[in-house]
Amino acid sequence: MADRKTWRPIIFSCPNTGDRVQGLLPGDMPEPGADDLHPVSCAACDGVHFINLRTGVMIGAERS
Ligand SMILES: [Zn+2]
Repeated sequence: MADRKTWRPIIFSCPNTGDRVQGLLPGDMPEPGADDLHPVSCAACDGVHFINLRTGVMIGAERS
């Protein structure tokens, strides 16, 4: 393993396609006061969604 950082898999529903997509989040909790949102590439819509690292809740699709 080149990267010792731990990751945790998550399953979320793509807001654009409704498909269930697997993504990975950093295993470490963010620093207090840091940005809780982590961008996750979506294999369903080829976009980026943001997952709240503390709650695991997806915030929504990236707005363009
Ligand atoms: Zn998506």
